[in-house]
Amino acid sequence: MKNNDFYCEMVLSNKINVDIVCETEHFMAFHHTKPAFERHIVVIPKKHIQSIRELYLYEKKLIIEMHSIIDEVMRLVESEYGGCRLTTNIGNLQETKHLHWHVYYDKQMI
Ligand SMILES: [Zn+2]
Repeated sequence: MKNNDFYCEMVLSNKINVDIVCETEHFMAFHHTKPAFERHIVVIPKKHIQSIRELYLYEKKLIIEMHSIIDEVMRLVESEYGGCRLTTNIGNLQETKHLHWHVYYDKQMI
């Protein structure tokens, strides 16, 4: 676990309850606890991976599973709003040092 890791410290340790959208063996998607957009869902690995930069260390099977759950969430938001955006941050832009994907939609993006 790294410093400032909301996902390991709070979410994956069940210290707070999150509103789960869907999950797989190694990943979970839930509604952002402080949404910045009209629809804002976060996808995280259940085991600590610091960022997208470390993904090359993992098996292809895991990457495919990650893609599959992200795709499921994107389809959900697309079906609801007609589209969505997918982002992940690194370095100074990554506030929480645990890989997480934002899937979101907001009217202001159009
Ligand atoms: Zn973590």
